[in-house]
Amino acid sequence: MSNSSLHPDDATESLGGNVCRCTGYAGIKRAAVDSISVFENGKSGERNHLENLITLNFIPHYFRAIKKQLEEISEGNKSIEKKSSVVISGGTDLYVQRWENLVRGKGNLISQDKKLSGISKTGKQINIGSATTIEEIKSSKLLQKYFPQWNYYLSLFGSLPIRNRATVGGNIVNASPIGDMVNILLALNSTVHLKDGKKKRSILLKSFYKGYKSLDKRKNEIVEKISFQIPSKHSFFNFEKISKRTYLDIASVNSSIYIELKSGKVTTIHISAGGVAPIPLYLSSTCNYLKNKTIDTETIKNAAEISSNEILPISDARGSADYKRLLLRQLLYAHFIKLFPQLVDPEKLL
Ligand SMILES: Cc1cc2nc3c(=O)[nH]c(=O)nc-3n(C[C@H](O)[C@H](O)[C@H](O)COP(=O)(O)OP(=O)(O)OC[C@H]3O[C@@H](n4cnc5c(N)ncnc54)[C@H](O)[C@@H]3O)c2cc1C
Repeated sequence: MSNSSLHPDDATESLGGNVCRCTGYAGIKRAAVDSISVFENGKSGERNHLENLITLNFIPHYFRAIKKQLEEISEGNKSIEKKSSVVISGGTDLYVQRWENLVRGKGNLISQDKKLSGISKTGKQINIGSATTIEEIKSSKLLQKYFPQWNYYLSLFGSLPIRNRATVGGNIVNASPIGDMVNILLALNSTVHLKDGKKKRSILLKSFYKGYKSLDKRKNEIVEKISFQIPSKHSFFNFEKISKRTYLDIASVNSSIYIELKSGKVTTIHISAGGVAPIPLYLSSTCNYLKNKTIDTETIKNAAEISSNEILPISDARGSADYKRLLLRQLLYAHFIKLFPQLVDPEKLL
C-alpha cells in the first residue's frame, strides 16, 4: 500500500508466501484487488498510509502504537546487547529453528542497526552490509546495472514477506548448503568481513565453511559486511536453481557461475554448487580445470565430470543423491548453454 501507484499485480505479489488453510485464494485475491480502488478513493493528500488504512477499517486503531512499541523494544535491547550472544537479524531462520528459546528470551537484534545495512561501491568493490535484506539487494539499481538478470535471480528467493525480513548476513551464517544468496556470493568470490568490538578481520567466503554448519567464526564475532569486486566488462554471470516449485521454495540444487574471457580463453572463473555437499560449495577443481581453456562442448563435458568428483550429495526429502548429481550436471550445462549458445552444442552434451 505504500507504492506510489497501486496495481492488481502488486497486490498479488505482496500476498505471495501467505499460505491460506481455510478458504480459497481467488476470494483473497479479489478482496485485495477490490481494496485498491477503496484505498485509492480514500487517500488523503498527505499519503499517511497508516492513518488511511485505519480510517478505511483495513487495520485496527492500535496499529498507531506499534511503531513506538517496536522502538522501545529496540532501545531496551541496546542495554542487553553485550550480555546476549544470540545474534538475531531477520529471524527467518532463527524463529523457525529455535523460536521457543527466543520468543521470550533476549537477543542481539541487529536488523535495525543502520551501520550494518546498505549497499555501496568503493573504488572497484561492492559492499553489502550484513543486515541488508534480500529484497533491498534484489531491487538495488547498482547491482542490477552489473547483473542484468539480478532481479529475476532473487525473485526465486522465498516470497516478498520473507525477502523483506531475510538478510544476507543471516543467509551466510545460517550456512545452509542450499542457501541462494550465499551461492551467488560464492561465485562472485566474495569476502566476509567480521568484527568483534574493534577487532576486525576478513576471510574469503569460500574458506568460511569448515563442515556442516561449522564456520571459521569466533564466538563474539558478527558479520559486518560482504564485499566483492565489480564484474569486469568481459564477464558473464548466471544463477540456476532447481526446486520442487519454481517460486516460493528452497532449492534442491542451485549453482552460480562468474566467468571472464579474453581472446576466447577463460581467464577467471568461479562456480558454486548448493545441495550437493554439507556446506555451500565452491567448485575449486572444476574452476582450476576450466582456467585458460577455450569453451567448447567437450571441455564442458569434462568439467561436469570433474565436478562430480568434488561433490558429496546425500539423499533426503529433496531427492536422492544420484538425482542431485544429475541436477548439478544439468545446471552446469545450463550455465554454458545460456551464456555461450554459439560455443556449445546442447544436443552433444546430452
Ligand atoms: C518461508 C521461508 C522461505 C525461505 N526461502 C528461502 C530461499 O528461497 N532461499 C534461501 O536461501 N533461504 C530461504 N529461507 C531461509 C532464510 O530466509 C534465509 O537463510 C535468510 O537469509 C536468513 O536471514 P535472517 O536475517 O532471517 O537470519 P536469522 O534467522 O536472523 O539468523 C540466521 C543465523 O545467522 C546468524 N546471524 C544473522 N546475522 C548475523 C550477523 N550479521 N553476524 C553473525 N551472525 C548472524 C543468527 O545468529 C542465526 O544463527 C527461507 C525461510 C523461510 C522461513
